[in-house]
Amino acid sequence: MARPIRKIVIVGGGTAGWLSAAYLNRAFGGKVEITLVESARIGRIGVGEATVPTLRTTFAFLGMKEEDWMPRCNAAFKSAVRFNDWRKPRPDGSRHTYFHPFFTVPEPPVPSYEQPFHKRFGRGVSLAHFWLKQRLAGDPRVRATFGDAGMALQRLCELDKAPKPLPGTDAPDPGYRYAYHFDAALIAEYLRDLATGRGVRHLVADVKAVALDPRGHIEKVVTDTGAELHADLFLDCSGFRGLLINEALHEPFVSERDTLLCDSAIALPADHPGDGLRPYTTANARGDGWIWEIPLYHREGTGYVYSSRTTTPEKAEQELRDFLGPRAHDVPANHIRMRVGHNRRSWVNNCVAVGLSSCFVEPLESTTIALIEYQLALLVLHFPDSDLDERRVTRYNELMTSAFEDLRDFIVMHYCLTDRDDTEFWRAVREAPVPDSLAQKLTEYAQSVIIPDGSQLRLFETRSLWAILSGMEFGFTKAPPSVELMNDDAAWEMFEHIDKERDIYAAALPDHLAYLKVLHGAH
Ligand code: FAD
Repeated sequence: MARPIRKIVIVGGGTAGWLSAAYLNRAFGGKVEITLVESARIGRIGVGEATVPTLRTTFAFLGMKEEDWMPRCNAAFKSAVRFNDWRKPRPDGSRHTYFHPFFTVPEPPVPSYEQPFHKRFGRGVSLAHFWLKQRLAGDPRVRATFGDAGMALQRLCELDKAPKPLPGTDAPDPGYRYAYHFDAALIAEYLRDLATGRGVRHLVADVKAVALDPRGHIEKVVTDTGAELHADLFLDCSGFRGLLINEALHEPFVSERDTLLCDSAIALPADHPGDGLRPYTTANARGDGWIWEIPLYHREGTGYVYSSRTTTPEKAEQELRDFLGPRAHDVPANHIRMRVGHNRRSWVNNCVAVGLSSCFVEPLESTTIALIEYQLALLVLHFPDSDLDERRVTRYNELMTSAFEDLRDFIVMHYCLTDRDDTEFWRAVREAPVPDSLAQKLTEYAQSVIIPDGSQLRLFETRSLWAILSGMEFGFTKAPPSVELMNDDAAWEMFEHIDKERDIYAAALPDHLAYLKVLHGAH
């Protein structure tokens, strides 16, 4: 007879473990007893400092207020990702650079550029499609990339603007979507305090053994302090090693190392490069991968994601230190071996893997925490009784695989459109196999066969795809035929409106650092 699940044990206290604890506690309150066990000896991975806008919804669900958590986590705002040097320099010798801004989505009550389009052209027709029509027609009035043309944010990022006015002022609020940069260690601690304050049990110990029952379900985990933790459901948040899902339950891991060549990273804290504070992540392509710069309030998180097939950890560290110059902090670098790919199934019997133990693609679009949020939302939706109805488990696994593969395709898209051939790494990138699913999508995108937005499975919508494709100078050949038949007036009005917004918000929005100083001072 099925009964409700009453006990959950979470193994691992990184961002995945503590976000899971806080989320499930918020969803189920005191009806489910949650215990989190983490090792003091095995550290957290210590990276994961950039996010995407979905996190605002998750933090709101947890009741977290920016004025409280942001100062405690050294946090700043993020409105975009900037990509430098992902293609050869331009014919005039200038470096190749483009932005992927967080587009505002047309969901009431969020004010949106695109609402007039719904009224005039029907749901789903996007300014991106008109942009493409006019680019292909060679109209000189439209900007070269959709990331620049489709929103005022790129300009506001270049001016180091906060994405919203300071509270209590009467400056106009554009209602932009934004995300955060924060200190990975501090956010885990904040979430720990939040979760334990609401009743989650916390145990510091090493899990030494995992006992299975005759069905192959986890019966208990045993720690080095002799504690035996029984539960109905176990969450594996143990990081890349997958202590429960891979080591105990032997679920196979499907590697993507031939498609995504970067398999290693080095992280290093640094000082900010100048006086301002950039409200975006920068991804600088380099000889063997790319260097991230993530501006937090007090420092920058930086790191080099590279391929161990074309360089060594020592050379990569030197390249990162040379890139940063005197900005690099004089501390040992954090060298990380990355496991890129996904478990064949993330939920096996009574064990659900969340975070790095489940799946990982390199952090080019800062998506792992977003995937953790997605996993938790899916888990709550498919939460089982004690009978662990196989249909819920199967549906969960199908959705996860599909979300992962869509995301992998999105990340590969950033690489496979490059024309760089200056190093062994970039030549290998150009020869690396492109997943069939992506190859098919690219053929469709070229002809603007549109995938409808609003699919739960997609982290990034058409506007984002168009920002990357246009930024990487993709060979679009055709605008949607429907848009060819439509009158352009509304699109031109919209482009003019965006031009005006660039000026209005450049004047009205506060400087990013100035905003944060007020926020931190208020704490
Ligand atoms: P971890 O942080 O590794 O935590 C594992 C936990 O398991 C630890 O608490 C450890 O003590 C515990 N543990 C392990 N073994 C045992 C045991 N035997 N007993 C008890 N406890 C145990 N994500 C983003 O969203 N944005 C980014 O910008 C981003 N950048 C990244 C950059 C790099 C180079 C990498 C590799 C990842 C990045 N990520 C990013 C992913 C991000 O780091 C993770 O999603 C996030 O930190 C969650 O990690 P985790 O909690 O799954 O694992």
